[in-house]
Formats: sequence, C-alpha cells, structure tokens
Amino acid sequence: MNVVPSETPLRHGMAEAQVILKPQKARPFFGRHPWVLDSAIDHVEGHVADGGVVDLLSHTGKFVARGLYNPHSRIRVRLYTWSPADVLDEDFWRRRIAQAVERRRQLGYDRPEGAARLIYSEADGLSGLVVDRYAHYLVAQVTALAMQTRVDRLLPLLVEAVAPQGIVVRTDRALARLEGLASDEERSWGAVPEGPVFIEEHGIRYGIELGIGQKTGFYLDQRENRRAAAAYVRGGRVLDLFCYTGGFSLAAARLGAASHVLGIDGSQKAIAVAHAGVELNSLPGVRFEVADCFDALDALVAEGERFDMVILDPPKFTRSRKSVDEALRAYHRINRLAVTLIPPGGTLVTCSCSGSVTREDFLYMLAGVAQQSGRDIQVLEQRGAAPDHPVSATCLETEYLKCFICRVV
Ligand code: SAH
Repeated sequence: MNVVPSETPLRHGMAEAQVILKPQKARPFFGRHPWVLDSAIDHVEGHVADGGVVDLLSHTGKFVARGLYNPHSRIRVRLYTWSPADVLDEDFWRRRIAQAVERRRQLGYDRPEGAARLIYSEADGLSGLVVDRYAHYLVAQVTALAMQTRVDRLLPLLVEAVAPQGIVVRTDRALARLEGLASDEERSWGAVPEGPVFIEEHGIRYGIELGIGQKTGFYLDQRENRRAAAAYVRGGRVLDLFCYTGGFSLAAARLGAASHVLGIDGSQKAIAVAHAGVELNSLPGVRFEVADCFDALDALVAEGERFDMVILDPPKFTRSRKSVDEALRAYHRINRLAVTLIPPGGTLVTCSCSGSVTREDFLYMLAGVAQQSGRDIQVLEQRGAAPDHPVSATCLETEYLKCFICRVV
C-alpha cells in the first residue's frame, strides 16, 4: 500500500492509532462516559492526526470504545461508539445527525416557523457539536477539534437532513482555547440573513440575530420554563432579571396576561431586541431597561417595590466545582433580595445554568434564603432544560439547567 495521506483516515473512519488506558482507569468508559482525560491515558500506539480516529483499549488490550483524538485538549479522546463494528465514516455521522433530527420531530419540535435544538453534543452521541434551528436557518456551534476538522463534511450532512436555507457556524472563544481550536474561522453555508430571523414560540414572535447574540442567538433551553412560569402570573406584576431578549417577559405578558412587566439586562444589544419583541407582538405594559441586575435589585428593594413574580436567570456563576461555594453565595444574595420584593403568596422563578452547582446545592441555598428572610419557600416545580436538550444518563455534564418555580409564603 502507498503512503497514506494524513486526512485519508478521517475519511474512511478506521482507527489510526490505539490509546491504551492506565490500569484501573477503564471503568467510566465501559460505563459510556464520552470524555477520556489525558490523566487516564497510559500511552498511544501509532501515529494519529489531530482529530483522527482512535480505538480506546484497556491496559489489558480489551476494546472499550472508538473516538477522536485531540492532543491539544485535556479531553484527549472524545468517544462516539462502543461498538467495534462502527466505523466513524461519513455514513456514521449521517446516521447520527438523522437520528438526532428525527428525535426532535418525535417531540413535535419541527414546526417550520419554530426553533429547536436539533443536536445537543454528548446527549446525541455527537460530542462537540451543537446545532440549533431557527425557522429555516441553522446555527452550528463547534466545541471540539474533532468536529472542527470535519465541519466541511458535516455541513452537507446537515443540509441533507434538514434542507435549511443557510447555516452559520460559530466557535465559542473560551472553549476554543481549551480545545486548541481556531476561533476566528467563521464558516457558513447557503444564504445567511442580513437582519433577524423570525421564529415563533408559544405563539410569540421573536427576531433572532443569528450568530451574533449569546448562545446561538436565543436561550432555547428555557422554552418550556417560560410557558410554565407564565402559568403562575395570573395578571400580576412581573420582574424579569437577566432577561436577555425578554423571553420570560413576553411569555408572562402574552400567556400570563401580566399587568406590568419590567425586564432588566446588562446587554444593550439584548435589550434592543427585547424592545423589538414588544413591538412585534403588540404587548403594552412590558418595559425593558439596560442595567446591572445586582444594582437594580438593591435599588428596587431600597425603593420598597413589590412584584407578584420575580424571575432570576443569571449567567453561569461558576465553571468548576472549586468555586461552587462562591457561586452559591452569589445565588443566595440575589435570591434573598428577590424574596424581599415578593409579597406573601407571590412566585419566585429561580434558575441556575451552572452545571457544577447541583440541584441539592441549589435547594440548600434556597433553604438558607428561607431561613434568613423568615419566609417559607415552597418549591412547586423543579424543572430542567426543554426535552430537545436531553440529559445523557452516562454524561451528567449534559445536565446544567435548573429552574425552580416557588411560592414565597
Ligand atoms: N432569561 C433569558 C436568558 C438569560 S441569560 C432568556 O430566557 O432568554 C443571562 C443574561 O444575563 C444575559 O443576557 C446577560 O447579558 C445577562 N447578564 C449577565 N451579567 C449581568 C449583570 N451583572 N447585570 C445584568 N445582566 C447581566
């Protein structure tokens, strides 16, 4: 056989090398956890290109799984199959993408004017790839070298599965650093709209700026929580803190007939989109402000303001287990102030998207708030992300969002 050019194995999907685990380190991977950290690896046999296919073997030489190699990341191998018969070729990725898209159809998340997460990384067996659909457009977020080296071949597969009008590819800067990715490499396919793309969620229209907003443009994970929260509004006054483009606010006004909504966020861009949403949906009584939410909370408490519902959906307060205590103190502070604003019988909708803060941690924090404020907090609903963001039972890193709907007595 001739000398094999380095990208050929990427195409045929066969293993280029074997990654041998240290003794006692194979268990999580037999348990289908998809991230092999460098610390678990004893050595690599053979030469493997960046993003190339490798077989993961136990130290006794037993096949564990097949994955893609990244010498630049602490997650040295991402695993995609536990079946030795699976070859990681184009057909494999085609099947995985088609399955993920089909699952959203089964959930009823396929209305053409709607939006949904079509591919959620590990939870769909596609570690390092997130794809959101906004009506006829897709936004793909690449979070692993393995996917970046294949992106040119994955885009046609997405086109095959979804037939969008255009695809925008984004790379998150912070993750790019961890993975050794080129973050300035903007890619797209087909038509990329100049202005916003309009979508509908629960009968409310939103203009989404693809690829320039936060996340892929909209917080799709909160979709069902926006509707659930709205059910408790019952014509009351609502304060929506960290409101981004106003998802909870508009749902409270339209679905919950809120008499008055105040949404606050620090991002001027997000608030401009939120204002556009008020116009688009003709919703009087909804007001948005650009401000720091910590300052705004202090000011509203000082002014003796009252809201029948306060929604707290802050950004991640921690990325690691190390700073969980600090994060919990920050959650405590804003929840404590929020409770002060709520009259007896009112509702607190409190969220955390910090994956390293567990549900138990969060409940414990709420217990502290109840104790210090002398109020009972009844948790009515403990919610997570919408079902198009499934949690993989063998990769609990896919669970991050907590949304608790509470009655404050
Ligand atoms: N609830 C929103 C998503 C919120 S994401 C939705 O359903 O769409 C968190 C938001 O917090 C972001 O919009 C970010 O701009 C905002 N943010 C972060 N720190 C902030 C601060 N100190 N003050 C105000 N807003 C802040």
